[in-house]
Amino acid sequence: MVMSMEKPEWISDMGTYNSLPKPHYEVTQHDFIYYLSIYSIREIEHRQLRDYEGYLDCYIFWFSDCALAILLPTEWDYREGETFSGFIYKKPIRYFYIGCKHDFEELSPEECKKLGIPHHGMCWHVVRCKKCGIIRAYDSSG
Ligand SMILES: [Zn+2]
Repeated sequence: MVMSMEKPEWISDMGTYNSLPKPHYEVTQHDFIYYLSIYSIREIEHRQLRDYEGYLDCYIFWFSDCALAILLPTEWDYREGETFSGFIYKKPIRYFYIGCKHDFEELSPEECKKLGIPHHGMCWHVVRCKKCGIIRAYDSSG
């Protein structure tokens, strides 16, 4: 498989078609849905991860500064009426967060000026991750 995207700066290793990018952390379904609801998907990638069960289908949802992966078990049953689709996995679906677990600190207008970053006033916030250095800006005025 040819990877269509370049390595984001917040990824240390893109992995292979048979492994996850690094860093990655296993998360709960709740975390997966939370992150999926607050970010916009830029690209969806399919991989097949190799583990003790064989090759597992994996879908990676790439966002601007993190990604999520869902790992599907190889074995499933079809039981009509038990779920909407009728498909039931025999083992739990696994979820992963990929990238830096950002720890943001706010930059003052003076710090932004020194760094050459625009700052638009009271409701404008510029934050920098203490771990990876990524900078984000947002307007909190609603
Ligand atoms: Zn970070």
